Amino acid sequence: MKKLSLFLLIASFHFTVSAQKTFIQCGKLVDAKTAKLLTSKTIVVEGNKILEVLDGYVNAGSNDKRIDLKNSTVMPGLMDMHVHIENETNPNRYLEGFTQSQADIAYGSLRFAERDLMAGFTSVRDLGGSGANIAMRKAIQKGYVVGPRIFTAGKSIATTGGHADPTNNYRPDLMGDPGPKEGVVNGVEDAYKAVRQRYKDGSDLIKITASGGVLSMASSGENPQFTEEEVKAIVAAAKDYGFKVAAHCHGVEAMKRAIRGGVNSIEHGTLMDESVFPLMVQYGTYLVPTIIAGKSAADSAKIPGYFPPMVTKKALEIGPKIQNTFSKAYKAGVKIAFGTDAGVYAHGINWKEFVYMTEAGMPILEAIQSATWNAADLMGTQNILGSIEPNKLADIIAVNGDPTKDVNVMGQVNFVMKDGVIYKQKK
Ligand SMILES: [Zn+2]
Repeated sequence: MKKLSLFLLIASFHFTVSAQKTFIQCGKLVDAKTAKLLTSKTIVVEGNKILEVLDGYVNAGSNDKRIDLKNSTVMPGLMDMHVHIENETNPNRYLEGFTQSQADIAYGSLRFAERDLMAGFTSVRDLGGSGANIAMRKAIQKGYVVGPRIFTAGKSIATTGGHADPTNNYRPDLMGDPGPKEGVVNGVEDAYKAVRQRYKDGSDLIKITASGGVLSMASSGENPQFTEEEVKAIVAAAKDYGFKVAAHCHGVEAMKRAIRGGVNSIEHGTLMDESVFPLMVQYGTYLVPTIIAGKSAADSAKIPGYFPPMVTKKALEIGPKIQNTFSKAYKAGVKIAFGTDAGVYAHGINWKEFVYMTEAGMPILEAIQSATWNAADLMGTQNILGSIEPNKLADIIAVNGDPTKDVNVMGQVNFVMKDGVIYKQKK
């Protein structure tokens, strides 16, 4: 008995001495829960967890590591609720569906994942791709490649001819008639099959394309593409597997069906109006605005030949409207979670969404809150992510300066820690 307790004493002593801690001294620290800016704090990290947050600049012990961010603003790792990790806009996009193998997509997306992380986005929600997105999540989790935590929908779910029907407008003899396995559903039974297939594939959540979209080869960018019954079936099936449901949506009727059907977020929400805001508030549905994607698609559409004519028309009409809609939705009290649709524009400049959000009237600290605390709420991960508090995962970033004085410092990320590992540290 005595021997055992002596052994335990030595073991615990050994543990206390050898476990290196990291002391991050923060000139400014964003409290994501209250959207307030604190000054002179020290975050103590041990392993992949936050141990405590102390007042003032506390010095590290001789065995510990000290990181000086006294001239920076420290905040929880940013979370982008809408990216496509597999791709990035380019004029050959419509051809790539025929030229790229899954391996091409996977290798190509490595740099997108790295850029998003280095821009301070330690978590992203990937809202649709080919399945390489699921493999990417696994490779990052295992530490084989560098990238953010990925929560992925795998393949998006659409209806026939809908925004995420991968065969739209191509030769039918080549493309066949995809079904729920490929993420194309018609009716309640298909909806269940499609969700279960995503579970089998290893998706983390469900994405549906509730209305037409800008970049797909179809005439309308806003028509409703699911019945309310189909949305309800998707949501019910998703609940069985613990999945949240994100709904791409530009048009009003599609939005109303999706909100009443119980989805967790409306993506883009471009034509959202006074008839929809109260419904969003009533159901507690998040809006994920993606202002930068709308602006960027409209800019690309001005380059002759960049998009097919059908897409150009929609991009010019729909793209520029998102910022104004976001402004109204925010003022109407709609819950906002930060999201950019990275991939529709270049990965790594996701931070510009902060500029557009503040232009539209949201204070920067609330915009940061939407990219941390709210985002974690939308994903159901507030217990481990979204704020800098004891026992949470050590996802911590810093920007060079004070974003409340100049929003552009959100583009000057000088420190990135994910899961307790430092990926970026600029002097
Ligand atoms: Zn998207």
